[in-house]
Amino acid sequence: MVIPCYNEEEVLGETSARLREKYVQLTEKGLISRASRIVFVNDGSEDSTWDIITRLHSEEPGFFSGIDLAHNSGHQNAVLAGLMSVMDICDAAITMDADLQDDVEAIDEMLERFHEGNQVVYGVRSARKKDSFFKKFTAESFYKFMRLMGAEVVYNHADFRLMSKRVLKELSGFKEVNLFLRGMVPLIGFKSCSVYYERKERAAGESKYPLRKMISFAVNGITSFSTKPLKFITMLGFFMSVMSVFAFIWAFVAKFCGFAELGWSSLLCSIWLIGGLQLFCLGIIGEYIGKIYAEVKHRPRFIVADFLNDLGTEFINTPGEDEKRT
Ligand code: UDP
Ligand code: MG
Repeated sequence: MVIPCYNEEEVLGETSARLREKYVQLTEKGLISRASRIVFVNDGSEDSTWDIITRLHSEEPGFFSGIDLAHNSGHQNAVLAGLMSVMDICDAAITMDADLQDDVEAIDEMLERFHEGNQVVYGVRSARKKDSFFKKFTAESFYKFMRLMGAEVVYNHADFRLMSKRVLKELSGFKEVNLFLRGMVPLIGFKSCSVYYERKERAAGESKYPLRKMISFAVNGITSFSTKPLKFITMLGFFMSVMSVFAFIWAFVAKFCGFAELGWSSLLCSIWLIGGLQLFCLGIIGEYIGKIYAEVKHRPRFIVADFLNDLGTEFINTPGEDEKRT
């Protein structure tokens, strides 16, 4: 299991206890081997998150491992850092948030589906009873808008998913810097299915995704997976050109009929409207140029500072090194 953690000191105790309990159940059921590990990825937390992970690992190395990133790289990069670190030493990895919003009880079914031959198992929220109206509304509109924009995403699926080693290997071939995992995984393909669960309230602590981050995440998702906004600009430009022909005709008619000065208000409105539209369109194009800029630089998406585990270093894939080389 790979769990990204950013300032999660309040919830880690409970999360680790719940996962440990689940681990024992799963081994008893024969769904996982005793060589499985719960890997917490510390995404540059400023609180005592890493100390807690270090303690968990030293007390029970047979259950818990830890990856320390050199700085805060963001949720998506933290998940990827974890996945790439364990890729070579696992048969499958499940990613889950640290706050217990994803249902730990759904893991059994995910593993059963995996043993039936599914390479990807998506955890899908069947209900959002515990989310605020605002969160539910913005999140659901986001999925709908993504679909409308032509990006293939699994409706109401976030980053609670199981991926097989095979899928992880293919994922490692996606070198993009602007990560949007829930758009990338469906692109990989393979046999997949969904497991439904009820999304819960955060067990403790606060959301690390304020509105500002949510908007930038949504913009990133759309501009990383769809060029429809650019086509929309072209269409808008075409429409405005057609409209300007009518405006011309109207202007001439007005001039010859002698009431040209009446046009002042409409002129003023169109300057504002067209100015605004132009800036908006420039902004959209800018989003894409910004993306190209980041991709061209091809900076490492994350840097692993430490990997606490009990498996011996010869087994460990050090993605930090690999990332730096490419
Ligand atoms: N997270 C992270 N890096 C960040 C922000 C968040 O690793 O920069 C982790 C966080 O610790 C949690 C997960 O991403 O495990 C999802 O964050 P959160 O629960 O705050 O988001 P929400 O559920 O409110 O959308
Ligand atoms: Mg959460």
